[in-house]
Amino acid sequence: MNFETIPSAKLPTVFGEFRIYGFRDIDSGEEAVALVVGDPCPEKAALVRIHSQCLTGDVFSSKRCDCGEQLNAALDLIARAGNGVLVYQQKEGRGIGLTNKIRAYELQDKGLDTVAANISLGFEADLRDYVMPAEILKYLGATRVNLLSNNPDKVQGLENEGIIVEKRISIEVAPNDVDKNYLRVKKEKMGHLLKNV
Ligand SMILES: [Zn+2]
Repeated sequence: MNFETIPSAKLPTVFGEFRIYGFRDIDSGEEAVALVVGDPCPEKAALVRIHSQCLTGDVFSSKRCDCGEQLNAALDLIARAGNGVLVYQQKEGRGIGLTNKIRAYELQDKGLDTVAANISLGFEADLRDYVMPAEILKYLGATRVNLLSNNPDKVQGLENEGIIVEKRISIEVAPNDVDKNYLRVKKEKMGHLLKNV
């Protein structure tokens, strides 16, 4: 993967002071950002979260999913840890795109679960891969990580790309009245390790 020249700048947030880096793959045009605290190095595991964009959850505080709360919890934990990276990748709707995600919501309103809705639209349950996040971590020197994730596929995905996952740290937010079924499907159909559903 070849990145364009990588800009970086200070990013003060309500969680603490980050440095934000911008990545654009020359071949695919895919973009991502990384928010970095401290100075990650290969010797000491950095606290890392790979977050996939969820416009409705991250920006509009949607209760259909736990993305926004997970994002805020991760930024808070990473800021406090003083050594970490949050990679934010533009994989809206697990990679199906924004309009298709709304299409999937439409089907879910008619009773399909998230996996069945994606499949009925002709997509796999999860189209994400972790090549770009792994390349970003390598660029930042964060090749040894403690990963904030409930998703065993993400651990495997990063390890396949040469990142050492020393520990998986679960990042579970309490279910609300709306996202209970969504979380149950994540657990039962997608193998996520969730205790509260
Ligand atoms: Zn979401």
